[in-house]
Parts: sequence; structure tokens; C-alpha cells
Amino acid sequence: MSQGKDPAEVYRALGVTPVITASGSTTVYGGSKLRPEVMEAMNQASGVMVELGDLNRAAGEIIARLTGAEAGLVSSGAAGGLVLQAAAVIAGADPIKMDQLPNTDGLKNEIIIQRSHRFPYDQCYRTGGAKLIDIGDGRRCAPWQLEAAFTEKTAAVAYLFSPFVSRRGLPFEQVCEIAHERDVPVIVDAASFVPPRANLKRFIAEGADMVIYSGGKGVRGPQGAGILCGRADLIEAAAANGAPYQFVGRGMKVAKEEIVGLVSALQIFVDEDEEAETKRYNEMCESVVDAFIEMPGLRVTVEHDPYDYLIPHAIMKFTDGWNGPSRDEIVQAMTKGDPPIFLHTLGKPDELGVDPFNLSEQELETVISRLREELLK
Ligand SMILES: *Cc1c(COP(=O)(O)O)cnc(C)c1O
Repeated sequence: MSQGKDPAEVYRALGVTPVITASGSTTVYGGSKLRPEVMEAMNQASGVMVELGDLNRAAGEIIARLTGAEAGLVSSGAAGGLVLQAAAVIAGADPIKMDQLPNTDGLKNEIIIQRSHRFPYDQCYRTGGAKLIDIGDGRRCAPWQLEAAFTEKTAAVAYLFSPFVSRRGLPFEQVCEIAHERDVPVIVDAASFVPPRANLKRFIAEGADMVIYSGGKGVRGPQGAGILCGRADLIEAAAANGAPYQFVGRGMKVAKEEIVGLVSALQIFVDEDEEAETKRYNEMCESVVDAFIEMPGLRVTVEHDPYDYLIPHAIMKFTDGWNGPSRDEIVQAMTKGDPPIFLHTLGKPDELGVDPFNLSEQELETVISRLREELLK
């Protein structure tokens, strides 16, 4: 980086306004801040040619080691990994079937999913040729509903781990048990479920046959990379369906620099001190609490749990005693302000959050002072 030059200049020169992302790792607001060491590794990788099959295999071994899975593959984001999961369970590594995708006439193409796990990214499964078979009523699901859904066309059962997903569906281990009794694989989307780092090994250990994580979210690797891991035969099939080969995944190419960047990011991520990181996030959240604790009608707390707030968040609750602008007016004003600031709005409708994940200390100060201006209006 050149000394003294404002890095935001690269965007300003294009007429693009830099923003502050206090919503966590949100793709539309820039995703995550890439680790500088990863950029350095990608830079080195960019000037040297390699055979992609070789590189994919080597990267896969590292992913396997760090996830406890038999095998791994760098995919094009978690979303690209979902396409490959579908292709792998539907076509395997059979070139005749692979060539036929996304047309699945005559193939096993049904992926069973609890209604409460339907999510915007499940179109990626359909892109790979899957027909989604919904079970349950959107809030809960009984074991017999899963048992009744298997047919001779069942290719897999999908399971979603993500913040703010209903916890009243079938427990993961029970889904694995029921599916495995029928020799059907369980495929998992845990794209945004790290950190905690323990989640990198958790789902494989609990019985998942394939798991996808985003490489560009909590891991802070290349924004366009994903981490696919799982059973050796399924990962081999996923790789066969993807780039550099000309099958359904070819449109989701991963560059050699991104593969190198991803394994570098993943190794650094795993080696990091999670306790120290959590402590730092906690302190950042506490400074938000301290700033607004005295505001009448506002309740500010630090939330941290294994479901919705995987890292500490500062959550402001607008109680009945609140007399200032509405929560939505504040969200709007922050978004339209200078600089534009995006807050965490996934929680309850009367709550607003600050996720410290993408914030420097200086950006946090800006978030607090801008929030104070808007709250006091
Ligand atoms: C973010 C996300 C994805 C997509 O991840 P990318 O790495 O951005 O492709 C898929 N599934 C879920 C549940 C996500 O949260």
C-alpha cells in the first residue's frame, strides 16, 4: 500500500461512495474486509501458472484437515458450493449424467428440505437441477414427515444452519440418522455459521455428508470463495461437475489466486485466538452500550449466543418508553447519511444492532456519533 494515501480513493475515483458496514458480513455492502496476508498470497499466486486439478487437490487436502472431513474443495462462494452439492448428489461423477444437467429427466433429483429451512439461496440447489421437496409446516416438522418424503428419486436431505432460522425443526442428528438409514446423504449450508471456529468441524462430526461455508464471510478470505467439505466420493463428484471442467459448475469458476487466498485465509482463521477476538468485539459492543445506556426508552445490551449472534452484537431495543424517531426512520437516516452506515436489522422489528465484525475502531466511533445525532433528533 502506498504511504499516506487514502485507500478509499480507489473507489472515489470511480465515483463510488465508501460505506460503513455495521451489519456484519453482508455481500451487498462489501462482504468482509480481506486479510492483508491473503492479498499478499494471492499476489504471489497471480504471476505463476499451475494445473488447476493439482491445485484443487492440494487445497482440498488442507480443507479436509481443517474441517475433519474426508475431502474438500474451494467453490465459487458458498452459493456456488450449493450448486455443486446438488450436482454431486444428482449426477455423481458420471459424465453422461453430468452432461445432462440441469435437465434431470430420469435422474434422482429430489432434495428434501424442511419448510422452515427454505431460504433465498435454495435457488442454487434448483440451478443444479434439484427439485425441492418441502416437509413440515414452516414452523415445525415431525420425524414421520421426513420419513414419508423419501422416494426412489430422493438424492439428498438439505439442512440449513443460519442465524434467525427456526429452531423448532427436526434436530440435525435425527435428520442424519433417518437419512442414513436409507443411504441418503445429508447436505448442509452453514455459509455464515463461522465463527465460532468449532463450527468448522461440528457438522461433519455430527454426521453431515457435505457442508458448505462461505470463504468470504467470517473467514475473511476472498469474497468470491467458498469452502466445501465432506465425503470423498461426493467431493470428487462436486469437483468433477465444477470448473475447470465444462459441466454445470463451469460458470462458477474459481481462479488460482482465489484458491491460494482461501487456503491461506482458512489457515490463519483457524490459528487465531478466538477468545481474544471475542473480547475485542465485546469491548466494541460495550462502548455502544456506554454511549446510549442513559437514553430513556432505549435498552442497549450486548447479545452473544450460538444461534443468532455468533459474535457479540450491540442491540438497541426501542421500548414503549421511547419518544425519539422510529427504528425504521433511524435505519433510513443512517443509510442516507454521510457516510452511509448499514446497521444490523435481522433481529426483532423493534431492535437495531451494531455488528462489530467489519468495523475499525475509527468506524465504530463514526457509527456511535452518527447514531447519537439521529437518536437525538
Ligand atoms: C451468505 C450465504 C450464502 C452465500 O454465501 P456466498 O459465499 O456469499 O456465496 C449461502 N447460504 C447462506 C445461508 C448464507 O448466509
